[in-house]
Amino acid sequence: MRNKLAEVLAAKGIKDVNVINAIKQIPRHLFLDSSFVDHAYQDKAFPIGADQTISQPYTVAFQTELLKVKPNCKILEIGTGSGYQTAVLLSLKAKVYTIERQLELFKKTKLFFGKMGYRPKKIIFGDGYKGLPEEAPFDGIIVTAGAPEVPKALLSQLKIGGRLVIPVGIDEQTMTLFIRKSDTEFEKKELGAFRFVPLLEDKN
Ligand code: SAH
Repeated sequence: MRNKLAEVLAAKGIKDVNVINAIKQIPRHLFLDSSFVDHAYQDKAFPIGADQTISQPYTVAFQTELLKVKPNCKILEIGTGSGYQTAVLLSLKAKVYTIERQLELFKKTKLFFGKMGYRPKKIIFGDGYKGLPEEAPFDGIIVTAGAPEVPKALLSQLKIGGRLVIPVGIDEQTMTLFIRKSDTEFEKKELGAFRFVPLLEDKN
């Protein structure tokens, strides 16, 4: 079923062989509460509790491809959720720092990573709007929730040459890629419409 899903994603335009291989390897059904394999291997988002969803596999593959992950590169993920995107990044041998603001999901996914032997560098309970200044700069930052606006902190935590992949918008999001060209310059590319749960800001 995983091989079939990988074929579906390739047919939809995912070209990076390493990303396709990651999809072939990762047991997505274990990231869902009810491990119905037929749900898990359709190219669809799915509820994971606390009003959140595991992203659609195509979206995960599309965002991952845009990050251009190389072995040992340092990646910050905002929105750990089920951990599926994290697992894809780990299988590409990235050093992953991941932040989740929902306590329930944070605890559950942290335990799950332990059980599965997935080893992000850090799993953080907190507000991803702020990024992770103490570990910056990053080669890549991926936001897996819809951001009403681009958090400035995230742009400032990219290495020169680093990439921020972020869905921007309220009802619908435009997948947006920023590549840092210098201290002050960023190249911006808009790459199509997607739908995400919202990136929530902590007001306190
Ligand atoms: N990468 C996840 C996608 C989960 S959906 C997966 O593969 O399953 C997006 C996640 O972002 C949700 O879990 C939500 O709680 C989280 N989120 C929303 N706002 C956030 C914020 N400000 N900081 C960190 N996480 C946030």
